[in-house]
Amino acid sequence: MGAAAASSLARPAIALGEAKVVIIGGGPAGATAAVQLKRASPKLEITLIETKSKYTSCFFSNPYIGGLVAWGDITHSYAGLASLGIKLIHDAATSVDTHRKLVSFKSKKEIPYDRLVVAPGIDFKWDAIQDYSEDAAEIMPHAWKGGQQLSLLRKKLEKMEDGGTVVIAAPPVPYRCPPGPYERACVIANYLKTHKPKSKVVILDAKMTFSKQAVFVEGFEKYYKDRIELHLSNDIDDHSIARVDTRTGEVTTKAGMSVKAAVANIIPPQTAGLIAVQSGLADNGWCPVKPENFASTLAEHVYVLGDAAIATDMPKSAFSAHSQALVVAADILADLNQKPRETGTYRNTCWSIIAPGDSVKIGADYAPGELPGGKAGLIPSGAFVSKPGESAEVRNATYDEAFTWYPTLITQVFNKTMKFAGNSEAAPVESEQKSP
Ligand code: FAD
Repeated sequence: MGAAAASSLARPAIALGEAKVVIIGGGPAGATAAVQLKRASPKLEITLIETKSKYTSCFFSNPYIGGLVAWGDITHSYAGLASLGIKLIHDAATSVDTHRKLVSFKSKKEIPYDRLVVAPGIDFKWDAIQDYSEDAAEIMPHAWKGGQQLSLLRKKLEKMEDGGTVVIAAPPVPYRCPPGPYERACVIANYLKTHKPKSKVVILDAKMTFSKQAVFVEGFEKYYKDRIELHLSNDIDDHSIARVDTRTGEVTTKAGMSVKAAVANIIPPQTAGLIAVQSGLADNGWCPVKPENFASTLAEHVYVLGDAAIATDMPKSAFSAHSQALVVAADILADLNQKPRETGTYRNTCWSIIAPGDSVKIGADYAPGELPGGKAGLIPSGAFVSKPGESAEVRNATYDEAFTWYPTLITQVFNKTMKFAGNSEAAPVESEQKSP
């Protein structure tokens, strides 16, 4: 290409290796986008900014907490990304200047971008529960952001005396992994059944209904009768958590119900990851995006995906995050290459363990369309959900599907092969810093 032709290009040309894509967050959203972009266009300069040197996934953390898989099974390095030539910066992004197209770090450095992918997951509304804070979470773990919090919760369960009550505080919508708190109740109750038979789980729920409710309630009854106690909110009683007392273990709901927990798993109300909120990419706590490509509606040349985005009706899951990242990577490549941009379609499936060998699932495909009321959004089709009364063979096959899905996803996200270790040891391998 001649000099005149090159200079007439409105945007950087990836064939010349000039375009810089910066990605904040190395979970299934950000890491997938990085891998897809680099594989498709090796000359593209891809920089992934991630605070942690290793990623311990929330997805499949419930089987870890319940002693069904090992710490090593859910912990992954970024070596596979580095081997592709993706630049890794293990630092906290502290701000984004979307006008000057710059990302700044905790270490005071800054880097420019041509396209920015923001995928920081979630943060918590720390002021929503009286006396719950990052320090309180060391005593009453949320275990909802991966990492060390997961092993903390598991260790507390192991140390708990038989007869103790485990309280799970389930948050209001929207939140990460809608069926997660109920799967967690099942795997903990399953652990208690054999290790602490006099103990029970109490769920205090901010909601009146929840995902896959019919099959969970059937499972509570079938496997954990008198071992799982579910307190949903209703028109009169609001069982959102009002306050906690880390000294006495008491957890109190807005309706005034108080439970003394030997182990409390407090999952607070949530927002998009702080960096997205602080950079002006969020509206009411979550980041609005264009349904056709997950481009931010609030800033040019910025995409927000994964749990931080509010994608109408699409649940916040690793499956969704990965699916969104495939679309985002294709859109960035088409944009930079000045090719036609295709409208994205997405998929989600979310499996939950009721008991070893008995899993259920929910899922749908999503495509951009008009929501009731005329707003643009994602419209589900082909939705499916497990039903009460399914045979043991069906449930067992669903259980196996989930155990096949996880390593398959990890291979795609982190460019590494994995298989389950076949043991379930608990010990974490390294310490980590708190959220940025
Ligand atoms: P994350 O996975 O949270 O990744 C975000 C990354 O960004 C983190 O590594 C974080 O360190 C980094 N980061 C944040 N801020 C900064 C910053 N300022 N600078 C640098 N780095 C930053 N999903 C499923 O599909 N199936 C399941 O079975 C399932 N089970 C779950 C069970 C539980 C108990 C929980 C809590 C969740 C589960 N999920 C499941 C949901 C799934 O974990 C999330 O939806 C998924 O992790 C979202 O991916 P993400 O990339 O958006 O965010």
